[in-house]
Amino acid sequence: MRSKNKGKIEQVLLIINVIPLLIFGGITLLLSYQWFSSTMYNEVKQELRYVAYNMRTLIDVAYPGDYELVGDTALRLYKGDTDITGDYHLIDMVQRDTELEITLFYADTRIWTTIRNKDGERIVGTGASQQVITDVLQDQKETFYKNILINGSGYFSYYIPLHNSDGTVVGMLFVGKPVADVDDAVQKSLYPLIVTTLITMVIISLFLFFYAKRLGGDLHYIRAFLSDVATGNLTAELNPAVTKRNDEFGDIGRSAVSMQNSLRILVEQDALTELFNRRSADRKLKQIIQKHKTKNTPFCLAISDIDFFKRVNDSYGHACGDLILKNVAAKLKEYMLPNGFAARWGGEEFLLVFDHADIAEAYDILKKLADDIRSMENQYDDHTIKITMTFGLTAGTTTDITTLLRDADNKLYRGKQCGRDCIVWEEPKE
Ligand code: GH3
Ligand code: MG
Ligand code: MG
Repeated sequence: MRSKNKGKIEQVLLIINVIPLLIFGGITLLLSYQWFSSTMYNEVKQELRYVAYNMRTLIDVAYPGDYELVGDTALRLYKGDTDITGDYHLIDMVQRDTELEITLFYADTRIWTTIRNKDGERIVGTGASQQVITDVLQDQKETFYKNILINGSGYFSYYIPLHNSDGTVVGMLFVGKPVADVDDAVQKSLYPLIVTTLITMVIISLFLFFYAKRLGGDLHYIRAFLSDVATGNLTAELNPAVTKRNDEFGDIGRSAVSMQNSLRILVEQDALTELFNRRSADRKLKQIIQKHKTKNTPFCLAISDIDFFKRVNDSYGHACGDLILKNVAAKLKEYMLPNGFAARWGGEEFLLVFDHADIAEAYDILKKLADDIRSMENQYDDHTIKITMTFGLTAGTTTDITTLLRDADNKLYRGKQCGRDCIVWEEPKE
């Protein structure tokens, strides 16, 4: 059960945090790419148009007049009075300055061009694509294309129609930039954004991972602790990492520890006297005997009983008896706390265990205790009631718990026989 559920919340936490993060990161990158490339394409369009307009003006200024094709077989293109066929210096100059490709079409045929084939020759004499012919020559519209295939490569292209003075369209001017160059620039510009986004996502993921791991770990501690307590282990310890937390998990941990304490008190304490009850006394005594078995240090135990307690009940009532039991218990606790422990063994009978005292030391303590109890004035209503106690004290000479208790009990009985209010013990032989 435990291992099956291990880390389930941890996994859920990771899933509900990391998946949205990945989706968010992916969408951010996608939108950034789209926004960035469309901005870039727009910029390219403006640049191409600007250069195309300037180129047209430049040609008109350099060669005033109309375009005219002259000749029968070997056709030459004139602009005004100048034969401009094969005169590439204008477009080469602009290409050098702008790094853009430029082509002058007469009708749909390339007359000037900066584009060269793989042998390094200008691709003059070749034709424009049908789409361009329709849009620019026939419909007379200047047009921007994101990908026109020229000489095997894609170009961002801007075409403007060229007119003669009578308004007829005689050709086109093309200004272009390789798609690969633009995409390369987009990617290069996006690279820092991609890296930053990825690093941020990794950092957030790591943070979430360790947070979920710690939360899962602390939850596991709480679960293990509660299951220990549930199976009766009232001495189980909760990892301090949980109780130190100052959030709801810390609250749960602290409540679990207080619950364990309350349970321990309920199970181990006698409700009336708040001393250990017989069951826990038995367990504690076994632990002490076990400790002395290994360390071979002295210990003693005594059984004590209030003298003529029945008379107290009979004379002043049960509530008065209870009050005296509480007073006696407080005294026993006061004397025994530094020396071992005291427990309620039965009705008005108590077990006193000396954890680290030999029998002579134990006797001295008991003597003071007995004197104190004898002089104690128990107030009940208008009455002052005094009591005495009889003790049977035995040294821990054996680790057999039954023998020890029987010996103490026999001594107590002898004390009762001999007139009560005494400590029965055997002085150690020198
Ligand atoms: P002895 O000196 O021989 O011990 O005489 P005793 O009267 O103390 O002995 P006995 O065993 O005859 O009586 C013990 C009494 O203790 C009887 C019982 O009513 C009383 N007693 C036991 N437990 C409680 C308790 O929790 N409260 C009260 N008020 N009395 C208790
Ligand atoms: Mg008694
Ligand atoms: Mg008794």
